Amino acid sequence: MTVDLKSLVRDIPDFPKPGIIFRDIAPLLLSPEALHVATEAMAAPFENESVDLVAAVEARGFLFAAPLAMRLGAGVVPIRKPGKLPFETHAHSYDLEYGSDELHIHIDGVLPGQRVIVADDLLATGGTMQACCKLLEKCQAEIVACSFLIHLSDLQGEKRLAPHRVESVLVY
Ligand code: 5GP
Repeated sequence: MTVDLKSLVRDIPDFPKPGIIFRDIAPLLLSPEALHVATEAMAAPFENESVDLVAAVEARGFLFAAPLAMRLGAGVVPIRKPGKLPFETHAHSYDLEYGSDELHIHIDGVLPGQRVIVADDLLATGGTMQACCKLLEKCQAEIVACSFLIHLSDLQGEKRLAPHRVESVLVY
């Protein structure tokens, strides 16, 4: 199946604020072929890995984590913003350009030593994924890799995530 995935990522200038070009994956999600190709491409680097869980980063990471997990024979553990998870959680706060944010994971979401891939739609500065990795470290997970559909390479988010392995499908 040949699908030009990049042609289905729409550039939205000045969103969510002036000067930012937002890479909007909504057109890609609308296409069954593109969604299939994107998920297969995210799964391909892990074909020969044993993976217990895919950690799903709120919110667009959810869209890829479940199909990726099914493809790899793994389960899904959600990583969510404050106030969303009903059971006891580990939390990690991280700095944003203005202010800070926090992410949570259930304390029994990952067992020590379980092999986890963390999935999100896009890697920009790496701050979000770095916070997810900190949470997974609190759970004593073994982080196999951070997996993205899109990597905005000039922001060098992969350096922030080092030494974790970073895999992505589309590089801008
Ligand atoms: P970071 O923490 O790496 O700076 O930002 C990545 C997070 O913000 C991801 O969870 C991603 O969903 C969201 N994000 C930031 N910029 C964009 C963008 O241009 N397009 C999309 N789809 N998500 C973005």
